[in-house]
Amino acid sequence: MPEGPEIRRAADQVEKALRKGSVMDVFFAFEHLKGYESILSGAEVTKVDTKGKAMLIRFDNGYTIYSHNQLYGKWVIRNAYNYPKTNRQLRLALHNEKKSALLYSASDIEVLRDEEVPLHPFIAKVGPDLLSEDVSADQLKERFVSKAFHKKKWTSLLLDQSFIGGIGNYLRSEILFLAGIHPDLRPIDCSERQLTKAAEATVKLVHQSYQHNGITNDLELAMKLKEKGQKRPQYRHWVFNREGEACRIDGTEIQKVRVGSRRLYFCPTCQTK
Ligand SMILES: [Zn+2]
Repeated sequence: MPEGPEIRRAADQVEKALRKGSVMDVFFAFEHLKGYESILSGAEVTKVDTKGKAMLIRFDNGYTIYSHNQLYGKWVIRNAYNYPKTNRQLRLALHNEKKSALLYSASDIEVLRDEEVPLHPFIAKVGPDLLSEDVSADQLKERFVSKAFHKKKWTSLLLDQSFIGGIGNYLRSEILFLAGIHPDLRPIDCSERQLTKAAEATVKLVHQSYQHNGITNDLELAMKLKEKGQKRPQYRHWVFNREGEACRIDGTEIQKVRVGSRRLYFCPTCQTK
């Protein structure tokens, strides 16, 4: 599933394609949204926001398109009306003179009045989005130790979209590794130092993944490994997807476990209890 950084990058592409001039033509596959085609045609896109894994395309006439890609949704940007060959179902198309922004396979699409956006059930409960809001490591640390969260396991918190919006499975493993936190722990079990490191790692990794195409490994190390001929899956992460490989810090074998029915990778010596 795409995580916050991937959705933010898709939002950048949609914004870049649509912010020049009016949207001339709008298509919705779902019958209950057809009425909005004429309302949105001719309007201008002012901004494309993200809230966790949700995207908000904002128009200058007071409407916003909400979409959530879930597991299968995919945005494709093409020259106008130049549809790709695909077996996917087109669910939403926005065309201007030069470009088409096409959303395939997603089923979670709504059109809202701007004032309805904060009341939308997902938006209302999603936690801070580090890529669209100014959230400091100190603020995150306060959130970690707040009553609502401090007694829950990190492994479930880091996938809980009401804790922090946009964190997903690879970021979960990578944040816990960089913070030196064992996956069995809760914030309340952690030292000040671990909490600080967890907050700093969260801010750092979300931004780095967004800016560097999903790479969460140390960037210098990743570049060195790439020059040595390693492929992206080999140099991309610290621990995620690296079961049985040597930890990049101390050489211990990386372990894989399933937590909350999702894969989690960790180093049993760098991440202690
Ligand atoms: Zn290690």
